Amino acid sequence: SVRVRFAPSPTGPLHMGGVRTALFNYLFARQKKGAFVLRIEDTDQTRYVKGAENYIIESLRWCGLEFDEGPVQGGAFGPYRQSERKEQYREFADLLVEKGHAYYAFDTAEDLDKARKEAESQGQTFSYGTGSRLSMSNSLSLSDEEVKQKLEAGEPSVIRFKMPDEVVDVEDEDMIRGKVSFKTSDLDDKVLFKADGMPTYHLANVVDDHLMEITHVIRGEEWLPSMPLHVLLYKAFGWDKPVFAHLPLILKPQGKGKLSKRDGDKLGFPVFPLKWTDPESGEVAAGYREDGYFPDAFINMLALLGWNPGTEQELFSKEELIDAFSFDRVNKAGARFDPEKARWFNHQYLMKRSDEELAGLFGPFLIEKGITPPAVDFLSRIVALVKERVSFVHELWDQSFFFFVAPESYDSKVAKKRWKGDVPAFMGKLAVFFKDWNGEWKAEALKEEVSSMIKAGELNFGAVMNSLRLAMVGGSFGPDLFTIIEMLGQDEVVSRIEKAVD
Ligand code: GLU
Repeated sequence: SVRVRFAPSPTGPLHMGGVRTALFNYLFARQKKGAFVLRIEDTDQTRYVKGAENYIIESLRWCGLEFDEGPVQGGAFGPYRQSERKEQYREFADLLVEKGHAYYAFDTAEDLDKARKEAESQGQTFSYGTGSRLSMSNSLSLSDEEVKQKLEAGEPSVIRFKMPDEVVDVEDEDMIRGKVSFKTSDLDDKVLFKADGMPTYHLANVVDDHLMEITHVIRGEEWLPSMPLHVLLYKAFGWDKPVFAHLPLILKPQGKGKLSKRDGDKLGFPVFPLKWTDPESGEVAAGYREDGYFPDAFINMLALLGWNPGTEQELFSKEELIDAFSFDRVNKAGARFDPEKARWFNHQYLMKRSDEELAGLFGPFLIEKGITPPAVDFLSRIVALVKERVSFVHELWDQSFFFFVAPESYDSKVAKKRWKGDVPAFMGKLAVFFKDWNGEWKAEALKEEVSSMIKAGELNFGAVMNSLRLAMVGGSFGPDLFTIIEMLGQDEVVSRIEKAVD
């Protein structure tokens, strides 16, 4: 059965590209009724960032991408943090040495530096591999006796993978890219095990994917260059290799290049799922959650970055995505991120929510403004009137504040154009009319009466309506005027006109 894993390194906050990788793993696992595993790849202590693991877990939880196995819930293949599995890697590295697929190397940092400089002086770049390894200090170039001595003396050593001496083509079938092939002559002898007793990414990743019985490795395109080494590692161990899928990059909205963690500030748009405060610098980066995105809108938007359903459909629930997803429709080419489209998705998901639910979400924003939220029925009516115009719950305030507070000032342009001639006097009359009204306080009836008064007084209809709106909301915006009047209620309407006439 299908087993996939998301294997982030806790070197900082997860960026939206990482969430997209997790999402595609998740969709594939759910569709195939397989397992979705979280594995934390934290063997590089120098790049470890405090809080990053929690951030990753919290982000994926917010997105609704539940794991079947991982450091939080455990599972039959644990532990799920590589730092807790570190004892096992050495023996696998040694096994490769025994089989002749890896070797010890004793070169110091200075030795390597020297080799690099020498190559540079000849206009070349140094590569530790088939062409150069015999001139370096390792168990292939030294005598067995020398190697034994060095090891026994505890000289620092690393274990490097031995690329085959004769050039071979490493070929593999990528679920997205089809046949991919690499020549080993382009590859160097990568370090598998470091002098500090820790494995490198390559070794730990392959060993764990094997031990955790991962069937499909779905990851970002930036790992494609590692694929030939990984394929060779599986072969060297004599293990079945998983099927690979390398997802396309997410590109900047304009121009070329990969969307980077730094782009958030420049775009004025989050590139992280949640707000992130850097533990060292204290710098804060915006998050989709805090910016008011719905997780289902965020996920829907991400799913279409690199994948398409082959139809016009853009809105997909998680269940629909699970059904529709397929690697056949994942592009090889990078996917351009469009911030406007993200807003559009959020608007769509906002419109899908009931007025009552939105009213409930809007309440806290009112409290923040010092306003006691009105009854749900009433607040739901307000939401229904203005939601078409907003992308976020917090934007409801900008569209409906006049239901809660009387205007403090009036748009002078509108006032100058409309509040003139016989209009001010008529507004005074309107105040009296509204005050004396003892019929039902309903938009239609009120509108009818006011219209006949305007007719009888031979006033400019538009000018009166604009002025009345000015008195109610302070400008020329908002939903239907008489609906506003009905909802504000008799006393408030009278007081607002009187205030404006003043
Ligand atoms: N730890 C790697 C990362 O941070 C995992 C890459 C992979 O999925 O193999 O992305």
